[in-house]
Amino acid sequence: MSYEHQTGEIKKIQVGLLGFGGLGQAGARVLEPKREMNLVAIADRKGYAYNSEGLEESACIAAYNQQGSVGYLEPGGTLSTNSIGELIERSPVEGYFLALPNLPNTFMASVAQQFIDSGWQGVLVDALKRTSAVEQLLDLQDSLQAAGITYLTGCGATPGLLTAAAALAAQSYAEIHRVKITFGVGIANWAAYRATIREDIAHIPGYTVERAMAMSDAEVEALLEETDGKLALENMEHADDIMLELAGICARDRVTVGGVVDTRNPKKPLSTNVQITGRTFEGKISTHTFTLGDETSMAANVCGPAFGYLKAGINLHRRGIYGLLTAAEVMPLFVR
Ligand code: NAD
Repeated sequence: MSYEHQTGEIKKIQVGLLGFGGLGQAGARVLEPKREMNLVAIADRKGYAYNSEGLEESACIAAYNQQGSVGYLEPGGTLSTNSIGELIERSPVEGYFLALPNLPNTFMASVAQQFIDSGWQGVLVDALKRTSAVEQLLDLQDSLQAAGITYLTGCGATPGLLTAAAALAAQSYAEIHRVKITFGVGIANWAAYRATIREDIAHIPGYTVERAMAMSDAEVEALLEETDGKLALENMEHADDIMLELAGICARDRVTVGGVVDTRNPKKPLSTNVQITGRTFEGKISTHTFTLGDETSMAANVCGPAFGYLKAGINLHRRGIYGLLTAAEVMPLFVR
């Protein structure tokens, strides 16, 4: 067996980011010190940047935050209203992290279709949240496979890290009774993660994805004002359920997801955890609990796994394994 297979080490991977808001920028910062991945391409709504030698994260963040798009980067930036399409055509990239808003709820599946239609081959990783969004990608399973694309979905924190932890913890049991995910997110300022917050608002009773998407920033602020900046969410439509069902672990109705997001304080309002309750082969009922460290941010717990799954996806792609996989089916690899 080669050293590469024994250690999971692979040749430096040329990677790209689609979306350069809160998670996209955090992703660039996560990648900056990595030896195994080189960030060469970034797209946002108004433009894109490409440099085969690697993009400098601080210059890209400055262009985006001061001028509104990485398309203003000098050199390497291009302004475009079709940034994803042009980047796919023009830039040799092995894998992308799709740090895009899923607004409307069909957007990510439409981006996947755009990659399929372009003839591009490589690895795509998303941090999708809704069950219905993952179902749309399942419909693309055959097309992704035929196109030579390895697509890993649900690879953020929840779904993602916590779903994978549940899949691992399930191994102690003969039968899984319940998977309960409770998250606490603290961010200093909602505007740094606009899509995340709008998509969370869409889970509040009385709201829909369409309604949350149509809200102006002032309307979001007014809503947050009523709740002292906090969003309490229960029984969310979260793809952890379908991912654990597809992995054969338990029926989706045994999985629940809820939590609290504080948009005015980077301190977590509660400790993020997943509890996995089941029956062992001896007949004992027990619960495993996996709790994230309170100091770890949402960005750390989303971007770390996303790139870990991207590395795993590259290994699969290089072995000719294509199609749709979820974070509950594949073990992420650690990116050095
Ligand atoms: P954001 O609003 O901060 O940034 C979105 C970025 O996408 C912006 O740079 C914008 O310019 C870009 N964009 C929008 N439309 C585009 C288009 N058509 N072409 C190219 N770029 C486009 O978003 P965020 O808060 O970083 O969230 C990103 C996604 O991550 C959301 O869907 C959110 O739900 C998801 N998320 C998942 C988890 C998880 O644990 N699974 C956790 C947090 C966030």
